[in-house]
Amino acid sequence: MNGQLTIVGLGPGPEAWITPAADAAIAAADTVLGYSQYVQRLKPRVGQIIEASDNREELARAERALALASSGMHVALVSGGDPGVFAMAAAVFEAVEKNPDAARDVDIRIEPGVTAMLAAAARIGAPLGHDFCAISLSDNLKPWATIERRLRLAAEADFVIALYNPASKARPEQIRNAFAILSTCRAPETLVIFARAIGRSDESIDVTTLAEAADVACDMRTLVIVGSAATRMIHCGENRIWVYTPRSARDD
Ligand code: SAH
Repeated sequence: MNGQLTIVGLGPGPEAWITPAADAAIAAADTVLGYSQYVQRLKPRVGQIIEASDNREELARAERALALASSGMHVALVSGGDPGVFAMAAAVFEAVEKNPDAARDVDIRIEPGVTAMLAAAARIGAPLGHDFCAISLSDNLKPWATIERRLRLAAEADFVIALYNPASKARPEQIRNAFAILSTCRAPETLVIFARAIGRSDESIDVTTLAEAADVACDMRTLVIVGSAATRMIHCGENRIWVYTPRSARDD
């Protein structure tokens, strides 16, 4: 019997943000694999095997999922947000590329999820209403010089920039370096959104400017969105602010 491996996006937090197709894929699996924090969010059914692992072991987890699926099991590999955005789907294809024989008889599927930048944008308005890009600030898998170059060029091209993995305990300084680079080609009044733990009980969102951004606390559960020159803030009533980027752009 052919095995099945479905790489499933759980969205950024709440159950209501998990698609029915993702839910069905998890329910149908014999074994569910994932980072411990994500699998803890699931309600396993009787007989279902759950394998939790450390966050840093992504390739090993992908290889294990592929090995179980090639033995004929139905495996769900869960990932936060969307599995294709800085996450497990790419790790699985790295494993497939490394060992194509292991994947020959496996039916691989990907179930998308709500990625953090979309959840964060939805909370504050429509900052991604015009052209944007996403950059991970983690230098675990790429040199910092590459990140600097991409930041500079994205800022120069006036993209709205979503920054994933902006800071961790091991690298608290990098986000400040990133703001310094962006400041070389963006105005100090450029809007910056800090979206923390979106969809969780301790969710918070702050809007500031590039000039002030270095003073704002930021951690692994934060998604940062740096506006373009056109991104603006509108005030509605006493307390409500919205941030949006208009759909049209003028000539540069
Ligand atoms: N696959 C995930 C991203 C993994 S990278 C997705 O599609 O969302 C991990 C980074 O995503 C975190 O460092 C943070 O920048 C962002 N992130 C994930 N969940 C988040 C949440 N609930 N609120 C804010 N940012 C989040």
